Amino acid sequence: MFIDTHAHIFDEAYNDYKVSDILNNAYKNNVYKIVCIGYDKKSNNQVLELSKEYKNIYATIGIHPSEVKNCSEKDLDEFIEFAYQVKDKIVAIGECGLDFYWDKDNISMQELFFRRQIELAIELNLPIVVHSRESIQKTYDILSCYKGRVRGVMHCYSGSYEMGLRFIELGFMLGIGGVVTFKNAKNIIEVVEKVSIEQLVLETDCPYLTPAPHRGTRNEPAFIPLIAQKIAEIKHISVEEVSRMTSQNAIKLYNIE
Ligand SMILES: [Zn+2]
Repeated sequence: MFIDTHAHIFDEAYNDYKVSDILNNAYKNNVYKIVCIGYDKKSNNQVLELSKEYKNIYATIGIHPSEVKNCSEKDLDEFIEFAYQVKDKIVAIGECGLDFYWDKDNISMQELFFRRQIELAIELNLPIVVHSRESIQKTYDILSCYKGRVRGVMHCYSGSYEMGLRFIELGFMLGIGGVVTFKNAKNIIEVVEKVSIEQLVLETDCPYLTPAPHRGTRNEPAFIPLIAQKIAEIKHISVEEVSRMTSQNAIKLYNIE
């Protein structure tokens, strides 16, 4: 059994693909649980609806760093209030974090939104789902202010092995997705090779980052075994071992049954 720990199956990329069909295809490929990640007001409501309707779908809510430019501090306050109302229906806060690839001119606002969501997760005793792009050191510096209280997952981890160890020390797991199957994935292959399987979880980040050999098409949870297969090859262990361990890690991470 596999778990997709990071999916956006509410995305408009699936307008012609019913959720029940996405799930059936996932089940056919042994992917039995899917964590649906919200990133703005609309998607936060969509993931809650999905988790209400399907028992194998779990929801997380957050404000993505690339959404910060569309939000005011009042929106952030409202989000936090909303999170308190639905806290029993979510398994994490996020995705949240820092993205200096798309937005470099609102760094202090991104940092404010990130810190408030970290503090929210701590207050609600939930893990956080962290997005970090071209911002790994700053992401680490902020998270380390909350050492011992914060925990969660570095989604689609793409940093160095050394940095990965520091996040693990802080209480984070590393999310491994389709990038590991790409030809130019040197960095992440080293991470997968050296980091203990006990610290890794599988994710698609669908509809993005489709693993080989489907690269260029729409991603979906059913492709998780391709990522597991690659990890098994890199670590010289069986796919069953990857499945068993990463599912165990995901269950622990999100505290799901
Ligand atoms: Zn995502």
